[in-house]
Amino acid sequence: MLVLGIETSCDETAAALVDDGRNVLAQRVLSQIEEHKPFGGVVPEVAARSHLLHLDRLIAETMAEAGRRFAELDAVAATAGPGLIGGVIVGATTGKALALAAGKPFLAVNHLEGHALTARLTDGIDFPYLLLLVSGGHCQLLAVEGVGRYRRLGTTIDDAAGEAFDKVAKMAGLGYPGGPAIQQAALSGDPARFALPRPMKGRPDCDFSFSGLKNAVRLLIESLPRPLSPTDAADVAAGFQAALVDSIADRVTRAARRFRAEWPDGRHLVVSGGVAANAALRQTLAEVATRAGLALLAPPLALCTDNAAMIAWAGIEKLRLGHSDPLDFAPRPRWPLDPTAPRAVGAGV
Ligand code: ATP
Ligand code: MG
Ligand code: FE
Repeated sequence: MLVLGIETSCDETAAALVDDGRNVLAQRVLSQIEEHKPFGGVVPEVAARSHLLHLDRLIAETMAEAGRRFAELDAVAATAGPGLIGGVIVGATTGKALALAAGKPFLAVNHLEGHALTARLTDGIDFPYLLLLVSGGHCQLLAVEGVGRYRRLGTTIDDAAGEAFDKVAKMAGLGYPGGPAIQQAALSGDPARFALPRPMKGRPDCDFSFSGLKNAVRLLIESLPRPLSPTDAADVAAGFQAALVDSIADRVTRAARRFRAEWPDGRHLVVSGGVAANAALRQTLAEVATRAGLALLAPPLALCTDNAAMIAWAGIEKLRLGHSDPLDFAPRPRWPLDPTAPRAVGAGV
């Protein structure tokens, strides 16, 4: 089974060819970071235009590298939401057109489902597992019970974790994207110099919140001499990273306890999304998982951040179950994985 995947929901334009033997035959990921850098964040119109400009070429390169023709595909899978709608329309329309032209089924993939199923592509693990999805746009804890069966245990009630990294880095003058910049600066910083809050710590649910921490950092920065000295910036970065990791660890510990009780067959804690690149977070999560009796699984970085291999793989998982989607499937800017979950106040999805 051979599926072409297309991903255009945020600031990566990506194409990949994956088979049901868990092989990524070829893939392309084009990051738009440089295009958005002058604006300090992703500009939706710039993103959509850039997807349109580059997607066809990336698909052609992917097919050529794998030496395959469209006629050999079993389906075309494209992200159909959630995300920046202009970009989603570009990718989904391209996927539909290719499927129609090649006479193959089209699969409308939920971007979050792509992230959620990545560990089955990389490690072939069985259901159920506990998933922490931490990226620029999302921060959720899900029990993954099967394809299309996701139970949300917690979500952010305000900012996503990556968003908090990006905003704090901007305030501290550390540049964009903020995650890598904060991680780097924190290496030489003192995490204990400034007292910062640990949002939600000790709360009985599994939700996240980062806006209070972000505001505390803003007030702290305003109280320091500007521009920040390298030492002050490093201490702010280290303090913020420690507080955020501590808060996430508390939430995941709680979710793991619940997961172990309700899904006793589950063996893994999977972490995915761009913030999973953070070394401090990975180390802490490994400790949390061990204490909870779970094994931590973090897919390789290139498959943690946005990519099309995960979309192609989600397509394969759906196709194997006999799914396909109509060509008039409407792209969805919002598309929760667990429609039964109550929406947290202020949360996007
Ligand atoms: P989505 O939420 O739709 O997946 P996205 O494109 O914003 O969208 P990713 O590409 O998965 O998400 O991740 C980007 C985010 O990850 C950014 O917010 C970035 O700052 C953060 N990030 C990347 N590396 C690190 C790191 N080492 N530490 C912390 N955060 C990081
Ligand atoms: Mg991205
Ligand atoms: Fe993503």
